[in-house]
Amino acid sequence: MKIAFVLMVMMTLGVLTATAQEVVKRDVIKTSAGDLELVFIGHSSLMMTFRGKIIHFDPYGKMADYKKLPKADLIFITHDHNDHFDLAALQAIQKKETTVILPPICSEKVPEGWIMENGESLTVQGVEVQALPAFNMVHKRESGQAYHPKGIGNGYVLTFGDKRIYVAGDTENIADMKALKGIDCAFLPMSVPSTMTPEMVADAAKAFKPKILYPYHYNETDPKRLTELLKNTPVIEVRIRQLR
Ligand code: ZN
Ligand code: ZN
Repeated sequence: MKIAFVLMVMMTLGVLTATAQEVVKRDVIKTSAGDLELVFIGHSSLMMTFRGKIIHFDPYGKMADYKKLPKADLIFITHDHNDHFDLAALQAIQKKETTVILPPICSEKVPEGWIMENGESLTVQGVEVQALPAFNMVHKRESGQAYHPKGIGNGYVLTFGDKRIYVAGDTENIADMKALKGIDCAFLPMSVPSTMTPEMVADAAKAFKPKILYPYHYNETDPKRLTELLKNTPVIEVRIRQLR
């Protein structure tokens, strides 16, 4: 009798724990032109679906078996580091009609890609895209070179109906980021030393006030630190997802 009771409690607890730890793999953002689904693949790898289109960001084979994921209509590459620019993963989701958008440094390996430089804008498959700079001001390698030198990588702001989504790439809290207006969702990198500390992410977020903030590419950094830093900034909702 006693054992049965204990077992029952353990089973109940087990179920509760499983529910509490259930990983949120996707969120839906309502836009004036339909639902935008955000799929969290891991690290900097994201997938979005909008009006039947599949959009991938920085596909990275260590995060998923890309052969099993839906083929892309659009692929965005932020820069040439191998955790962002993985040719095998990219090719696994590429079809003939796929448009690949990338910075100049990645163009040689994807000659069919569309090159975007910092500051450029274009509309592709009905989606307005703006390329932002992405670079380090503070964090440098031992050699003295920035992990991400200015002028190489891109962040992207995409407009879906009345919503603007910012995927920052590997960057610090640069002035172009802090000057952004009307961002509904922002993905900001939070890994030390190559991108931002939680303090730098919080500083940027307080400046441009995205409605929803997803720390991503956070590696060993505890994302709860960011929640703590922004607890008195209720206009920003910090959402922690599996984007280590
Ligand atoms: Zn990088
Ligand atoms: Zn990276």
